Amino acid sequence: MGKEIKNVAVVGAGTMGNGIAHVFAQKGYHVHLMDISQESLDKAIATITKNFDRQIAKERATEDQKKEALSRLTTFTDLADAVKNVDLVVEAATENIAFKEKIFADIDAHTSDDCILASNTSSVSITRLASKTTKPQNVIGMHFMNPVPIMKLVEVIEGYATDPAVTELILEVSRNLGKVPCAAKDYPGFIANRILLPMINEAIISLQEGVAKVEEIDTIMKLGMGHPMGPLQLADFIGLDTCLSILNVLQTEIGKDKYAPATLLKNMVQANKLGVKSGEGFYKYTPGSKELVVSASFK
Ligand code: NAD
Repeated sequence: MGKEIKNVAVVGAGTMGNGIAHVFAQKGYHVHLMDISQESLDKAIATITKNFDRQIAKERATEDQKKEALSRLTTFTDLADAVKNVDLVVEAATENIAFKEKIFADIDAHTSDDCILASNTSSVSITRLASKTTKPQNVIGMHFMNPVPIMKLVEVIEGYATDPAVTELILEVSRNLGKVPCAAKDYPGFIANRILLPMINEAIISLQEGVAKVEEIDTIMKLGMGHPMGPLQLADFIGLDTCLSILNVLQTEIGKDKYAPATLLKNMVQANKLGVKSGEGFYKYTPGSKELVVSASFK
């Protein structure tokens, strides 16, 4: 479409937002990182700095590159200021449909007609977010994987009205970030989560039915299928609340009970055992320790 992307706003500075801001700044884009929480912004800058230091220790970046990247990053708590005059907005705020609909309407109101609006959502319909804007042809999904600086994939989601030229441009931007983009259509869960979450859910149902224990389930999938991480450990890493919310979307939107979340998953979320982020899920996490210890509830 002949448009050049130079200035990017990232809305939401949590787990994903800080990683997305990191890779854009590292690859030479000017980044406006916005969050309603100053605390999230402060934490994001600290995390980006720490992750650069890790890359420097592994000789994947230099001190100068870190300095330059950080100088291209500006933080904002006001959405209108953050998105004014940017070429691309990547929304990575909390996974909540109502929040995201409001954010898209607000972003739309403060951006030019040719600005591209992308969402990093795991499960909200891109077409639905596009319907809250005056430029649905410019709305697209840019689904990065966690941790963003390390994971190579970007799932690019075309909404019903997305202009194919916008898709082409976002595929190119993703490649410029050093990622491998794969295009998918806007159906619930897209590809990654539509296939991953039923597997995680089945692992939890198998545990619930006593077919095998936590370590056995994860080891079978690691050694038998060549997965780098077992499905229960992966669920802890994603966050059990996030897993539950994606399964709820799959079940409701596709309308099939095969996506119904395991009762054990619902119970664990109710009990605030959310995985890594709460310190306990299927495993128990101690800060500073890399040892994988099964939670006392499953011994
Ligand atoms: P998070 O909870 O770590 O961060 C969300 C951030 O959004 C918070 O800092 C919060 O203050 C901010 N926020 C909330 N409302 C806002 C608003 N109106 N304007 C600006 N900022 C706002 O969440 P996360 O894990 O980074 O997830 C963000 C998005 O990325 C979600 O859509 C999620 O589904 C998606 N995603 C997550 C993962 C993952 O593994 N965590 C992977 C792929 C995609």
